[in-house]
Amino acid sequence: MFDNLTERLSDVIKTLRGEARLTESNIQDALREVRMALIEADVALPVIKIFIEQVKQRAIGHEVLDKLSPGQALIGVVHEELVAIMGGDKAELNLNVAPPAVILMAGLQGAGKTTSSGKLAKWLMDQKKKVLLVSCDVYRPAAIDQLALLAEQTGADFFPVQTGRQPAEICTAALDFARKHHHDVVIVDTAGRLGIDEAMMREISQLEQLLKPAETLFVVDAMQGQDAVNTAKAFAEVLPLTGVILTKLDGDARGGAALSVRHITGKPIKFAGVAEKLNGLEPFYPDRMASRILGMGDVLGLIEEAQRTSDQKEAERLMKKMKSGKSFDLNDFQQQFQQMKKMGGMSAMLEKLPHQLSQAAQNMNVDEKIINRTEGIINSMTPQERIKPEIIKASRKRRIAAGSGVSVQEVNRLLSQFEQARKMMKMMNKGGMAKMMRAVKG
Ligand code: GDP
Repeated sequence: MFDNLTERLSDVIKTLRGEARLTESNIQDALREVRMALIEADVALPVIKIFIEQVKQRAIGHEVLDKLSPGQALIGVVHEELVAIMGGDKAELNLNVAPPAVILMAGLQGAGKTTSSGKLAKWLMDQKKKVLLVSCDVYRPAAIDQLALLAEQTGADFFPVQTGRQPAEICTAALDFARKHHHDVVIVDTAGRLGIDEAMMREISQLEQLLKPAETLFVVDAMQGQDAVNTAKAFAEVLPLTGVILTKLDGDARGGAALSVRHITGKPIKFAGVAEKLNGLEPFYPDRMASRILGMGDVLGLIEEAQRTSDQKEAERLMKKMKSGKSFDLNDFQQQFQQMKKMGGMSAMLEKLPHQLSQAAQNMNVDEKIINRTEGIINSMTPQERIKPEIIKASRKRRIAAGSGVSVQEVNRLLSQFEQARKMMKMMNKGGMAKMMRAVKG
C-alpha cells in the first residue's frame, strides 16, 4: 500500500536541493511530482486539484527552518495537507445514545461489510460492550451464516433470522430483543449489491429511518480507487452517513480511496480494515496515515498495536531496557518474533514500518516458517549465548545447529539477521524518530 506514492514523494525532496526558500517557481517541479504521485495513486481528480492548490498556497514564502532542507519543508506542508484532506483529527465512534446504540453498515457487496461487522463487534467487546449482531441480507443466506460464524468467533450475540422475514421486520424484532437483553450496541449488516441499484438504496434508506442508528457507516474497499469514490457519493446522497470504514488497506492498492473518500463524502474515516482476521480493524488516524504515506512509518500505530495484542509487560520491559542503553540480545530478538506472530504476521507489521526499514526487513526475507525455525535455533542456545551472542563461534554454532536440526549456515543467517535487527533497534533508540526520519527523507 502507498509504495509508489511514498517513493514519488520522497523524490520531491531531491528536486529542491540547494534552494533557500520555497517560491512559486522553484516548487513547480516538486508540485508536478506530487500531482503525478496522486494521479498514480488513483486519487480523485477534484481532490488532487484542491490538494495541490492548498499545498502551493501554504508553501510559497514558507521560511525554511535551519534544520530542514527546502524539500523537507515542502514535505512538511504536504504532510499537514494530507492530514487535513483525510479529516484532520481522529474521529470517534459516537454511541452516546440511550442503549441499544445501533450501528448500520452500508456498502456494496464484497466491500467487507460482514467482516467489518464482526471486527467491530470484537473491537467493542474489547471495550466491555455487550454486542448483538444482526444480518438483514435476506437475499444471501450465506451472508447470514457468515455473520453467525463471526458472532461465534467473537463471542458476540447473534440474532437468528427466520426465513421469509423482511429486513424491516428483522430489525424491529432485533431491537426488541436487544432492549430486553440489555445490549449496548446492535450492529446491523445489510444487503449489498454488485452495483448501486435503486431497490437496494430504498431498502437501506428505510432501514435507516426505522432504526435511527447512532452510526451509519459506509464500508468501502480501498482497492477500488476511483470507483470507491463514485459509490461513496451515491450512498452519501441517500443516507445520512456518519462515517466510513475503509477496508483492505493491507491490499496491494495504490491508496487513492483513503485520500479521496473523506473529501467526497464529507464524512470522516473512522476505521481501517488492515487484515482479514478479526483483529484486523483499527481506528483511523489521519496524521499517522499521512506519515505512513510519506514513508515516515506509523511507529505510534506499531507501538499501540504491540501493546494491544501482546503482553504489555513485555513491551514495557523491552522499551525500558532499550532506554537504559542495554543492548538488544537474542532473548529480545526471540520475543520480537513471538510478538510478530501475535500481531498478524510479518506483512501486517512491515506495512507500518518506515519505508526504508520496511525494505530492509523485507530483504531479510522473514516468513512465518522461518520465524518458527528461528525460535528453534534460539531455543538451542544457552542463556549465556543469548545474552552475549558474540561468544557464538564455530564449535558453539555446530552444537546449536545439531541441537535444533538445522545447518550451520542457518545459524549464521540467524546471527546476521539478529545483527541487522540490533542495528535497527540502535537506530530507533539512539537518534529517536528525528534521526530515523532524516535518514528516511534522505
Ligand atoms: P460484504 O459482501 O461487504 O459483506 O463483504 P465481506 O465481509 O464478505 O468481505 C469480502 C471479502 O473481503 C472477504 O473475503 C473478506 O475476508 C475480505 N476482507 C474484508 N475486509 C478485509 C480487510 O480489511 N483486509 C483483507 N485483506 N480482506 C478483507
